Amino acid sequence: AAKEAGRATYRFFTPELNRRASDRMWTENNLRRAMANNELELHFQPQFSLDDRRLVGAEALVRWRQPDGTLIMPGQFIPVAEDTGLILPLGDWVLGEACRRVSELLRHRDLLIAINLSAVQVRRPGLAERVAGWLSAYGIPPSALELEVTESVLMDESDVVSETFSQLREMGVPLAIDDFGTGYSSLAYLKRFRVDKLKIDRSFVSGLRADDPDSGAIAEAIIGMARSLRMQTLAEGVETEEQYNCLAAMGCDQCQGYLLGRPMPYEDFLEFVRRDVATAELRVAEVVD
Ligand code: C2E
Ligand code: MG
Ligand code: MG
Ligand code: MG
Repeated sequence: AAKEAGRATYRFFTPELNRRASDRMWTENNLRRAMANNELELHFQPQFSLDDRRLVGAEALVRWRQPDGTLIMPGQFIPVAEDTGLILPLGDWVLGEACRRVSELLRHRDLLIAINLSAVQVRRPGLAERVAGWLSAYGIPPSALELEVTESVLMDESDVVSETFSQLREMGVPLAIDDFGTGYSSLAYLKRFRVDKLKIDRSFVSGLRADDPDSGAIAEAIIGMARSLRMQTLAEGVETEEQYNCLAAMGCDQCQGYLLGRPMPYEDFLEFVRRDVATAELRVAEVVD
């Protein structure tokens, strides 16, 4: 009977494991070609100031557009890229492409573009030089970028990591912690590195209820700590007006989420920026009248 159960379990798990293994293999085999073929693109999700809902910037999020138009999301290929080392050329492409877009966007208005960095990229010596190279190639100020890393990256005690972050700091490139609160419990790294912004993870935002003060306990604690350490806060994954209002009441600085804007292709984001500029000019004109 045990043997039979074992065999049943085996049969039950195999198709799923097989599918995942072959997905991975497919991704691995095709990602390199996709990069050479220019199939990667950056989408931009707008970020807003919480008190007045004004656009302040965007997060750049990579997508893989297949020749037939299908979009593959980063969750499917970033982990594979990290395992195979392809994340190094991929991450460098993201940096260059983001800087190119920033140089165009800055002609319309001041914005801050956030870029995700993988741990693999940060552990490899030379990242700060790469960033400096792209900044000067496109003639953009370091303060127009923001680099996002997760907590685990800052827990790394290696000299390479602290050297890279101190170089970036000296250059004036802001640093944000992504998915804050979901990683490690030690906060010692907040004293070792100067962090500009904490991005409050979506898991602490999704449950916010106006009629339940406990639902906001963690978000509120993060905002309080950020304030005393003079860091900004940005809430991720804001989907409802109720969540928005709870965060505003707590004094969170910024937000991003489906409520105010989904990630979108560059051309759509440019249109978004243009409309924002036009609205602001209209407001100024009304005040002058
Ligand atoms: P992340 O950096 O935490 O990005 C936020 C993710 O949440 C994005 O998923 C975004 O589309 C999604 N999101 C935004 N607003 C909402 C909302 O209101 N509700 C919900 N349910 N989701 C929302 P996406 O684009 O699939 O990216 C997933 C992850 O892939 C990112 O998480 C980031 O860790 C990674 N990633 C994306 N682009 C890059 C990149 O260029 N380089 C690296 N190394 N990683 C990247
Ligand atoms: Mg991010
Ligand atoms: Mg995040
Ligand atoms: Mg997240």
